[in-house]
Amino acid sequence: IISKLPKVKTTIFTTMGQLAQKHSAINLSQGFPNFEPDPSLIDLVTLAMKQGYNQYAPMAGVMELREMISEKIEQLYGRHYHPESEITVTIGATQAIFTIITAFIGSNDEVIVIKPAYDCYEPAIEVNGGVPVFVQLNNSDFKIDWEVFRSKITPRTKMVIINTPHNPSGTIFSKEDMLELQRSLENTDIIVISDEVYEHITFDGHEHESASKYDGLASRTFVCGSFGKTFHITGWKMGYCAGPAELMLEFRKTHQFNVFSADHAVQKALATYLKNPQHYLGLNQFYQEKRDLFLQGLSTSRFKIKPSQGTYFQLVDYSDITQEPDEVFAESLVTEHRIASIPISGFNTKGIDNHLIRFCFAKTNATLEKATEILSKL
Ligand code: PMP
Ligand code: GLN
Repeated sequence: IISKLPKVKTTIFTTMGQLAQKHSAINLSQGFPNFEPDPSLIDLVTLAMKQGYNQYAPMAGVMELREMISEKIEQLYGRHYHPESEITVTIGATQAIFTIITAFIGSNDEVIVIKPAYDCYEPAIEVNGGVPVFVQLNNSDFKIDWEVFRSKITPRTKMVIINTPHNPSGTIFSKEDMLELQRSLENTDIIVISDEVYEHITFDGHEHESASKYDGLASRTFVCGSFGKTFHITGWKMGYCAGPAELMLEFRKTHQFNVFSADHAVQKALATYLKNPQHYLGLNQFYQEKRDLFLQGLSTSRFKIKPSQGTYFQLVDYSDITQEPDEVFAESLVTEHRIASIPISGFNTKGIDNHLIRFCFAKTNATLEKATEILSKL
């Protein structure tokens, strides 16, 4: 067999999750809540199923849900996306991202990816014959150098992928960053994927800067969202993308043969649930308390920490504990101390020895307290 993805192995999230299970560890590795979603949301899904929404949903998504997504984006970021032609419901943000790349990227097209990068971008580019071109964030504060970014743009650059709030660093692109990106792409046909799945998880007053707020970006961007993160339902795999009609038309040509449509009953339920903005506007505060509890619990530990500005992840620097490479340290942490984490090299940073691992704090307070007690003794 000639592999199209010879370098790709099982994802770090699966590997660490399996190790966590094997060692009965506290699992702070793969990003998912270990608490239940709102029971009323589950009731809405059951109701939709009983009402008979058990067959294929419309290809682009249930219209009421697309209308609610459109309303939410307009209220938060001031841009109107037409529910009919500019919003498509997908099987998680992962499918949105994969389908966008498949719809637009072909042989030798270059895609600028910012590293550390969430793991699904690079294989999706490569399996379509494209070439990922990396821009490394600064190693200590994870800021981007826009001069370096601009130097990577060539006549073959077809796409740029950004992710804010950023997994795994927990940093947020500022307004200035978004303006730099907008300026850098002026007079090009470059398409942007803006992965904004953590849009509702920001801390300490940091504002999420959606690409949809910027005229010069919105006209070339697919904004990708995920209900998994926002409503504690990562297992339901429900997301969406929003973008200009001419781009969305191309997206749907691929989407309709890729999955055709997403779960019908869940879409119906989410359309109703989204009518109450408190269901997502309260999320910042909810996760701020968890981040603070986690940081407080680690305050006497030997980990060096820059507080996460957004996402439900916290990177920690363990170099005062050991100089081992991150994968070695993460493995000993789970096998010897029964705490599972994600080594930062899972985000395509191999070769940079920055002694960082990522913890997910989307966990019950009891779990966070138990974990920080163990981590403080290292
Ligand atoms: N992008 C980023 C940055 C993520 O962290 C995740 C979730 N793990 C996704 C995309 C995928 O989202 P979904 O689970 O909705 O497919
Ligand atoms: N996005 C999740 C994380 O960063 C992982 C989801 C997955 O396993 N693909 O932990």
